[in-house]
Amino acid sequence: MQLNKLGNTGLEVSRLGLGGIPFQYITHAESNDIIQAAYERGVNLFYTSRMYRDSENKIGLAVKKYRNKVVLGTSTHKRKKINGRREIEQSLRNFGVDYIDIYSLHNVLTLKVLREIMSPGGAYQALEEMRNAGYVRHVGISAHQPETILNALEMAAFDVVEFPLNYVDREAAGELLAEIRARGIGFVTIKPMVFGYAASASLALRYIFGVGPDATVVGTYNRDELDENLSVEAAGGEATETEVMDAIAASERGCFKVFCRRCPECVPCPRGIDIKQALRLYEYFDRYHSREWAREQYAAFSTKLIACDNCGLCERECPYHLPIKREFSRARIDLLSRRSPRRLIHKKLIGR
Ligand code: SF4
Ligand code: SF4
Repeated sequence: MQLNKLGNTGLEVSRLGLGGIPFQYITHAESNDIIQAAYERGVNLFYTSRMYRDSENKIGLAVKKYRNKVVLGTSTHKRKKINGRREIEQSLRNFGVDYIDIYSLHNVLTLKVLREIMSPGGAYQALEEMRNAGYVRHVGISAHQPETILNALEMAAFDVVEFPLNYVDREAAGELLAEIRARGIGFVTIKPMVFGYAASASLALRYIFGVGPDATVVGTYNRDELDENLSVEAAGGEATETEVMDAIAASERGCFKVFCRRCPECVPCPRGIDIKQALRLYEYFDRYHSREWAREQYAAFSTKLIACDNCGLCERECPYHLPIKREFSRARIDLLSRRSPRRLIHKKLIGR
């Protein structure tokens, strides 16, 4: 198992970690079996969230004998200091430990939420105080938009960033990765299996290992999945661009979703619509449920999707034949603010 430095935290983590989501759905015995097997083969990073019900208890019990040899991470979605502090205290009890290696602010959805968390009385203060008191070693943040993370890094000294990275959602591999590296922050990626749409687990992991975050956490429901992921890690290798493009197409066929490749040569829309950015927002809206964030961003568009006259040029020129007109016919309503009169009329007529 390849170990990587986690930014400047002083921790060394296995590049393949286990995420906590599945443990809430399987038994203690099954969770224990997966965690023991993973640990024996070199996995030392276990990252979950307060949101994932009893996952902290299951992980804590399983690693009890070798607690100091593993890195435990968890997170809170609370936004106020008082609630954040309670969550950390609860996590310590759930894990059954004296300290937690990484405690993160979970899925910070919008800049408004970020400002709330970072303001006096916000949850960030709870993390800082608990770090100063020794109960938390490192403070992290997770979000789904690069803009949110980049803003957060300007506001405070985070030790670790958790961010989605997979062969479909490749934004983190660019400017964000460079900024995180330059600041010496640990980078743990999430959602490696494209929300379950990954056409091949092997390809999905090879893509991530090729980009090279410090670690990626994978939700693992059984020993077969664990064994497969460990074998891919041991074999090494990287995904080629052709493999990635084929895998995106296969994922698209499997889930009837649209994955824009953000090609540099995308045709300009004669009506002035920013096609790539509109598709990007709608993907966030749909896949990551970042609805308010997408609506906020869309509100700043100078040319709204209502301007589309269905000329079809974009679809004809798109090398991947994406059904852009179909997407925009839905997005033009979904991306409107909840109080927009047009949206309210549409909801009354169509029920969506
Ligand atoms: S050409 Fe198609 S896939 Fe490429 S950026 Fe434009 S819409 Fe997206
Ligand atoms: S179909 Fe709509 S979005 Fe596409 S090029 Fe024509 S006007 Fe622009």
